[in-house]
Amino acid sequence: MPTTRVMEGLADMTGQQCNTLDIVRLVARRPEPTYEVRCTRCQSTSTAPHSRLRSGAARCLASGCGKVQQRQRGRDLEEEQRKQAEEREKQRIADVQAASLRRMEAEVEGYVLPTKRRPAAEHVVLTERDRIAIRQRREELEAEARTERETREKPVRELTQKINETSRQIAALERKVLLDPNVKDLDFWHDPELVGLHLTVEGATEWNYAMLKGFADSHPEFVVNDHNLQILNNYFSKHSVLMFTTEQLNRVYKRMLACGIPFDAPEQANTDVIANDTPSDTKRPDANLTIAPAKEPDKPKAPTYEGFDLQTGEPRTFTEREVARMSSEEFKKAMQMVARGEMGLPRIGPGPNGRGYRA
Ligand SMILES: [Zn+2]
Repeated sequence: MPTTRVMEGLADMTGQQCNTLDIVRLVARRPEPTYEVRCTRCQSTSTAPHSRLRSGAARCLASGCGKVQQRQRGRDLEEEQRKQAEEREKQRIADVQAASLRRMEAEVEGYVLPTKRRPAAEHVVLTERDRIAIRQRREELEAEARTERETREKPVRELTQKINETSRQIAALERKVLLDPNVKDLDFWHDPELVGLHLTVEGATEWNYAMLKGFADSHPEFVVNDHNLQILNNYFSKHSVLMFTTEQLNRVYKRMLACGIPFDAPEQANTDVIANDTPSDTKRPDANLTIAPAKEPDKPKAPTYEGFDLQTGEPRTFTEREVARMSSEEFKKAMQMVARGEMGLPRIGPGPNGRGYRA
C-alpha cells in the first residue's frame, strides 16, 4: 500500500511557481535553501527562502509591484474610455453628415446648378422693321401710363380747379366789396377808439393824418401816393366815415392785400428816396411787399409829424407838442396840406405829385 511521505524542505523547487514568483535557481543551501525568484508581474528579481516558497507565503517584495500595475491599469482604463467616447462621437457626426448628404441629394435630385455668369448677350443686329416695332411698343406703353395717370389724377385736378375757382370768386367778391363805391362792406369794422370823439373838420384832418402816418410807418412797403391813398380813402368815404384809425387802416389794408387789390409797389428809386428821408427805413432797405404785424390798438406810440419848417421851408419832424401849439394855418403850412374835401390827405411821399419825387 503506497504511502505519501512528505519530506521537509529538501526538494529542489527550481522551475516551480509561487504566487507571482518564478523560481529561477537555487542560490544558497545554508542555513536554509534560498532561491532566486523573478516576479512575472513586474519582472523584478529577488531572493526567497525555501520555507516561505513551500508555505506559499513568498510575495514579490518590489515596492511598486502591483500598485504600479494597478495604477497603470486604471490609467489605461481611463484612456480606453476616452478613446471609446471619441470614437462614438466621430461616428455620430459621420452619421449626421451622411444623413444630411442623403437628404440634400434627395431634395436637389435633377437640379442643375446655374453657371456662374449669364452668357454674354449676342450682338443682335436690328433691322429697321424691328426698330420701328420696338419704338411703337414703347410709345404704346408710355401712352398707356399717361392715360392711367391722367385718369387717376383727374378727380384731384378737378377738385383743385374748383377750389382755385372758388377762391378766385371769393377774392373777386372781396375786391368788389372793398373797391366798388356802390357796395357797402357788411363787415366794416368800427374802431371803438372813435366812439364819442367829435372833432372839427380841421381836427379830423389832423387826426386822420396822424393815423395815416402811424399806418405808413408800420408798413414800409406801402407807397404813399395818390393811387394808393385813393383806394383807402374811397373805402372809408363810401361808408360815410370821416375819421379812421391806424388799426382800421391796418385791417382793411390786410384784407385788400389778401384779395389782390393792386397797390403801387415801391420802385427802387423811390425806396431810396424814402430811405434817405426817414432813417427808420434804413434798417430794412430791401423791405419789399412784406406785411408788418398789425400794431396793437391799445399801445399808441408818441406821435411825431413830418413837415416843413415854417421859417426855412426845409423838411423837418415836429413833435406832438409843437404841433399842438400851432395854429391851424401854421399847421397847414407846416404840413403843406391842400384840403381836398373832408378827407383831404397830404401830398407827401415819393409819388409823382409828392415832394419826395425828383425826376
Ligand atoms: Zn513583483
